[in-house]
Amino acid sequence: MPEEIQVKSILNKHKKRDDWFLDDYSVNPYSGCSFNCIYCYIRGSKYGENMAKTLSVKVNAPELLERQLSRRAEKGEYGIIALSSSTEPYMPLEEKLKITRKLLKIILKYRFPVEVATKSNLVLRDLDILKEIDKKAILPSDLKPRLKHGLIILFSISTLDERLAKILEPGAPVPEKRLETMKKCKDEGLFTGMCFIPVLPFLSDSEEQLEEMIKTAKKYGADFIFVGGLTLFGNGQADSRTLYYRFLERYYPELVPKYKSLYRIFASPSKEYLKKLEERSKEICKKHNIRYKIV
Ligand code: SF4
Repeated sequence: MPEEIQVKSILNKHKKRDDWFLDDYSVNPYSGCSFNCIYCYIRGSKYGENMAKTLSVKVNAPELLERQLSRRAEKGEYGIIALSSSTEPYMPLEEKLKITRKLLKIILKYRFPVEVATKSNLVLRDLDILKEIDKKAILPSDLKPRLKHGLIILFSISTLDERLAKILEPGAPVPEKRLETMKKCKDEGLFTGMCFIPVLPFLSDSEEQLEEMIKTAKKYGADFIFVGGLTLFGNGQADSRTLYYRFLERYYPELVPKYKSLYRIFASPSKEYLKKLEERSKEICKKHNIRYKIV
């Protein structure tokens, strides 16, 4: 069983709204993540190599959110809440614990807009609450002219290759399952999108792979897609950079020198690589008539 922890705060207010995800707040019901993606940016010594073993549940999250959100609502400080930014809100243990569901009920009560980012089909369990949030949420005034939804559901995918996904995202549902879930959300009338992040250099970033992903997103009902590069942090035993290079050495040793050259100094690929990736993605989105980014 995961450890039960008490936290001091659950609603994090960002200094500045995120340009891509549009969130002003974030809420993370769990600490760590059993999906165990090796590229995950939260990786590090705090969680160890197998994050399923060090997972914690923030048991006082609902009580805290009630308090913190009621204060924000009183002051009219509405903003999109990212659920979640550093964990998966619909891991298998959520089925029993229902912490995410409890948090959504509170978010609905105070009429805050929400952005659910997930890789899991368990999100379908909460469609009843999510639909109500979509209808009743109060958007921040500056977003109202551009955004017509109180709910955004994002599905993250890094590759359509099932074998590769099983190695890189060992605890997560396979990409096909995520796509089917996205389609179901769309069929229920929700605003959905695909987050093609991280694009894996030399493994899921060719012209054909980009086009295939964007076409697939459209086919499965995405209202928009956005695309982002892979970041690799740290040299510690449980850091994403270490784990990712271990994966490359085992399965794609011929790519190691190419990655070393792309990630020479920084945790991200070079600016030129990222600029090109964005330009190519925008062009393909235009060709297939699907929006790049949320608004
Ligand atoms: S699902 Fe998200 S939070 Fe969980 S390990 Fe994967 S990237 Fe990290």
